[in-house]
Amino acid sequence: MVQLKDTALLKRLAFIGGEWVAARDGASHEVRNPANGETIAAVPDMDAADTERAIAAAQAALPAWRARPAKERSALLRRWHDLVLVAEQDLALLMTLEQGKSLAEALGEVRYGASFIEWFAEEGKRAYGDLIPAPTADRRLMVMKQGVGVTAAITPWNFPIAMITRKVAPALAAGCTSVVKPAEATPLSALALAELAQRAGIPAGVLNVVTTARPALVGGALTASPVVRKLSFTGSTPVGKLLMAKCATTVKRVSMELGGNAPFIVFDDADLDLAVQGAIASKYRNAGQTCVCANRFLVHEAVFDAFAERLVRAVEQLKVGAGVEPGVQIGPLIDGRALAKVSRLVDEARSQGARVLAGGVVHALGGNFYMPTVLADVTSEMAVVREEIFGPVAPLMRFASDDEAVQLANDTPFGLAAYFYTRDVRRAWRVAERLEYGMVGVNEGLISNEVAPFGGIKESGVGREGSKYGLDEYLETKYVCHGGV
Ligand code: NAD
Repeated sequence: MVQLKDTALLKRLAFIGGEWVAARDGASHEVRNPANGETIAAVPDMDAADTERAIAAAQAALPAWRARPAKERSALLRRWHDLVLVAEQDLALLMTLEQGKSLAEALGEVRYGASFIEWFAEEGKRAYGDLIPAPTADRRLMVMKQGVGVTAAITPWNFPIAMITRKVAPALAAGCTSVVKPAEATPLSALALAELAQRAGIPAGVLNVVTTARPALVGGALTASPVVRKLSFTGSTPVGKLLMAKCATTVKRVSMELGGNAPFIVFDDADLDLAVQGAIASKYRNAGQTCVCANRFLVHEAVFDAFAERLVRAVEQLKVGAGVEPGVQIGPLIDGRALAKVSRLVDEARSQGARVLAGGVVHALGGNFYMPTVLADVTSEMAVVREEIFGPVAPLMRFASDDEAVQLANDTPFGLAAYFYTRDVRRAWRVAERLEYGMVGVNEGLISNEVAPFGGIKESGVGREGSKYGLDEYLETKYVCHGGV
């Protein structure tokens, strides 16, 4: 049983054109609690025809929405933001139940998610154009920024609210309408957000949420539609590549926030306690299921043993359990497949010579719980540092020089986030410049916020979310040349 104060936030229908609707063929799929396998609710399992309906609703709502002054759109977004914060406890509980993260982390995500709505409510009012000095006396050259039109968002399960608001808030602020397809594991958070948007007065059709357990059907309709002018996707690199290729057929704009393989470098002059604190926050948050979480630790050989010892001590304090239990820091992994992947990566590394300093096995709680783990003597050939682990596992490798650390750090097709710890200012600048990553944390393990650009390079994606750059993703640049003046 879900005990929400505001029971209307638990939705069992999708949201299209301002109405709560079932799938046309009546199909539904169950949403389960990853901590105990229990069914929380069933939601519509929609297909391409349902998606077409949502696209049509977004298209119908577009002219009136884009015609409204940015200030009015801003006021509605601001009201949505306020309602999200009023409902923060219920939203956090719903998220913990369907996603698994601790209640404290879920509450943090609700507030983080809300911060994007607030930021873009303001930023939408500043979609400035330019007046360009003309090369001839009789002309006036103007550049105006206009919303791209109908947009689509496809989001993952690891941040069920923030990954939606980071896309929808700039879209709506820019005068675009949106069709959202949340991950099949976490549609309830998305539907609760839609309920609050409706209560805030955001007009019918401006935001639509299509739930499904058959993402390829919905994704196929969104990418094939010439009406949809932009797709913003957050998820794995293989699915991102597939969607980019599909978007090519209608030359859609795309933003891709894909997988990462973040290095966490500890230099020999690092403040080791600060580094351990950053490592815990970066690695073990959300049970390690974060695109920007440290995936491999590169530790200078002079401080390797000292860092490893302190990290193990901190990791052994982490409390594992269902996210709703007080004091829990590490919840379950999202499903059995994720658990099997983490187990495989650790077992393989161990068979290839890695030493287990902590954990290294499934948790005694059973189910989808894995022990917070630290591995030493890991080498760069092991899959545990080449693939995205997406679990509470810290593989430690040694290095001897700055050049070697940077070379190891850049030796991956990914380029999302990187972290390093040093007290040397010169090294801080030089290493930050040489790391081939979209985001770099220097002496800091938590770097995401609404005011800074979030995104990756190489196979970690294209485009940026949050910040003033996040609004640009939803704006076209139109040049107007006025002659005969
Ligand atoms: P995923 O790629 O399996 O799924 C992401 C979304 O894509 C889900 O909504 C899913 O239903 C949908 N999807 C899957 N196949 C599809 C298809 N054929 N057509 C259309 N949609 C399809 O990823 P996931 O397991 O949900 O999320 C974890 C991944 O997301 C990790 O790789 C992680 O690094 C990445 N991620 C990246 C960021 C970022 O900002 N760069 C943020 C969070 C997560």
